[in-house]
Amino acid sequence: MPEFPEVQTVLDTLERQIKDRQITKIKILYKPIVSCSETSFRKKLTGQHFRSFRRRGKYLLFEMDDITLVSHLRMEGKYFIMDDSVPLSKHDHVVFWLDDGRQLRYNDVRKFGRMELIEKQDEYDDFKDLGPEPFSKAFNVNYCKDYLKDKKAPIKQVLLDQSFVAGIGNIYADEILFAMNTDPRTPANRLDEDDMKELISSARKILKKAIKAGGTTIRSYTSSLGVTGRFQLSLKVHTMETCPVCGTKIRKITVGGRGTYYCEKCQILKK
Ligand SMILES: [Zn+2]
Repeated sequence: MPEFPEVQTVLDTLERQIKDRQITKIKILYKPIVSCSETSFRKKLTGQHFRSFRRRGKYLLFEMDDITLVSHLRMEGKYFIMDDSVPLSKHDHVVFWLDDGRQLRYNDVRKFGRMELIEKQDEYDDFKDLGPEPFSKAFNVNYCKDYLKDKKAPIKQVLLDQSFVAGIGNIYADEILFAMNTDPRTPANRLDEDDMKELISSARKILKKAIKAGGTTIRSYTSSLGVTGRFQLSLKVHTMETCPVCGTKIRKITVGGRGTYYCEKCQILKK
């Protein structure tokens, strides 16, 4: 699943490519991707320009002239920008014709992605169940103390909970816990203040590096333009064989239903 850095990369790439382009025509080939009726979707978006590009958690927000198009890529969603003469692939489900002869194509092998239209707002109440962004001031030690104090669930599971902090998925959760030397099964309420400081700074450091590297590719995920080569952040623990610090064999366990990688020597379990 694309995580924060991948979503940010898709957004940055699209901004460079289609900012201020106008939608001249829309075709929906697989209707469940779009949450409203096809007629209303086409009517509200045709003639609109892509004015600005924002992200909230893993949601992409395309600010048009009069409305906001919200897109969630879920497991395998991708955007491609193609000349309109290039034949559609069977996994292209929504096609936007642009005023420069290109098309923005939403492609999704698993068909889990979703798009919806919402009114333009400065703050998106629609996302109020999402926790703070990792780089925002709101993600601080006091916030963590308050949020984690009654949470007995493993810290790995809490990191994946989008209501704690927005945009962190399975890969980066493992990397963050490795960086802070914490066993993923540690109950969240056992983290002390230093652990929380460490969590905040490790999350920011790792996400920043990943955004810089253009996101991480795991399996079929590619950038919005199908560019793959530059997505290579070196992971330290997730899917790795041996610990880069101590050489111990990395263990794979299941935490909160998700495959979890950790080093039993470097990462301390607090009970
Ligand atoms: Zn180790």
